[in-house]
Amino acid sequence: MRYEPVQNYINGRLSVSSSGKMLNVISPLDGELISSVPLSSAKDLDDAVKAAKVAFPAWSKTPIKERVQVFFRYKYLLEKNINELSLLICEENGKTMAEAVAEIEKSIELTEFACSLPQLITGEVLEVSKGIDCRTERVPIGVVASIVPFNFPAMVPNWTIPNAIALGNCMIIKPSEKVPLTAAKIAQLLKEAGLPDGVFNIVNGDREIVEAICDHPGIEAVSFVGSTKIAKIVYQRSTQNLKRCLALGGAKNHLLILPDAKTEMTAQNVVASMSGCAGQRCMAASAMIGIGAVDHIVEKICDEAKKIIPGKTLGAVINKEAKERIEKYITEAEQQGAKVLVDGRHAEVAGKKNGTYVGPTVIDFVKPDMAVAKEEIFGPVISIMRTNTLDEAIAIENANPYGNAASVFTQNGGYARYVMEKASAGMIGVNVGVPVPREPFSFGGWNESRFGVGDITGKSSIEFWTKLKKSTIKWNPEAGVNWMS
Ligand code: NAD
Repeated sequence: MRYEPVQNYINGRLSVSSSGKMLNVISPLDGELISSVPLSSAKDLDDAVKAAKVAFPAWSKTPIKERVQVFFRYKYLLEKNINELSLLICEENGKTMAEAVAEIEKSIELTEFACSLPQLITGEVLEVSKGIDCRTERVPIGVVASIVPFNFPAMVPNWTIPNAIALGNCMIIKPSEKVPLTAAKIAQLLKEAGLPDGVFNIVNGDREIVEAICDHPGIEAVSFVGSTKIAKIVYQRSTQNLKRCLALGGAKNHLLILPDAKTEMTAQNVVASMSGCAGQRCMAASAMIGIGAVDHIVEKICDEAKKIIPGKTLGAVINKEAKERIEKYITEAEQQGAKVLVDGRHAEVAGKKNGTYVGPTVIDFVKPDMAVAKEEIFGPVISIMRTNTLDEAIAIENANPYGNAASVFTQNGGYARYVMEKASAGMIGVNVGVPVPREPFSFGGWNESRFGVGDITGKSSIEFWTKLKKSTIKWNPEAGVNWMS
């Protein structure tokens, strides 16, 4: 094993799980065993909740300007440790080094936003009647939990950690059991940044611990990021237990390409979007709809896809099951009459026989009822459908149950605006392949890509991580009398 077995992190210390059960952590890059992770018990979670509850009174009463000082230091530590963190991400997740570095850079941007929170939650005050003031303030909720997926071992945890904690909550995070090493390093950095013990805790595990989070009466709010199937379960179970919950699910993002789109820029964007992070992004382009005569663009997309080299400019997919699932989708589409123009099946990287690589794959003449057109593949695959009109393309996009992102590529402002208006997705791109809003704008999809109200990052997340207190104040009855005084 390249790394020590991962442990839980409770009350500022490493903590051995009481379950005694461990799971192997395998690197997708080469199939090597790199560490192991505890499959924790409900008792471990309870210990973490107790520690967080003890820490909450002091932390929530610490002025926010003081709380964010921890995140100024954390931001500096992310910068200082960018190489070590990026290497961990590469090894446990399979990304390229450039992608891993970008993930830490995005984590830094998320932390910068948290540092600006004192400027954003100043509350409001108004004299509503003579001598009577109404005032609002945002107050922390209590102990909160964040359940995260495998595909961004640093960025997705940092969607929630800086904001939730800077806003005064104490947190328990449940990393993906596939990539627990980066989260363990994040705990070290938060401690080094001066976060008091108990404010941030990690309980590792899988289904059992997620269910225990949804059920634990000491946890007030649950955020979840992962597949739609599990997002629904977590949302239903947490809200049934009267917690607030925001659960982000999977995606099937459509790119609508018009013939007037700039050929080279469009092709580069399509390929970068579908193949970046080996297609394992909830914002990855997965379905493309060519409207009218777009053969020249498809041709260029194939040229660009062929330039991408597994093991160099393309990382591995998370495990053997993922590789098999992705390749099965491609084979089925081919059997149903689609044309595989660039075939990433059976990709191999020299010296990494057990690495789980899938090359970039372009499938053309896909029909809207094929599985590759409808389902999340989560691999470096673009399924191209063809229509004659923009309305037909929009109808295909609208019919898909997901709703994370949709992009249009055109030089025509009218068409672009039409798609912005009609697409049923929370994040829209115009000539942008991965339309992730940057801070302070918030991240969140629609439909089956998100359950709950509001978004997970940016200004929108403030509401999720706080309660609004409204005070009505009369200090000076002599001030005068009118309807309310
Ligand atoms: P996943 O749903 O399998 O796992 C997510 C979390 O749920 C993990 O911590 C996992 O341990 C836990 N989990 C798994 N099975 C469970 C079960 N049966 N009961 C309770 N908990 C369970 O997702 P993943 O494979 O880790 O991540 C990929 C998925 O996440 C994709 O669908 C992707 O689109 C989605 N994702 C969405 C967003 C978004 O913003 N909408 C962002 C990143 C990833």
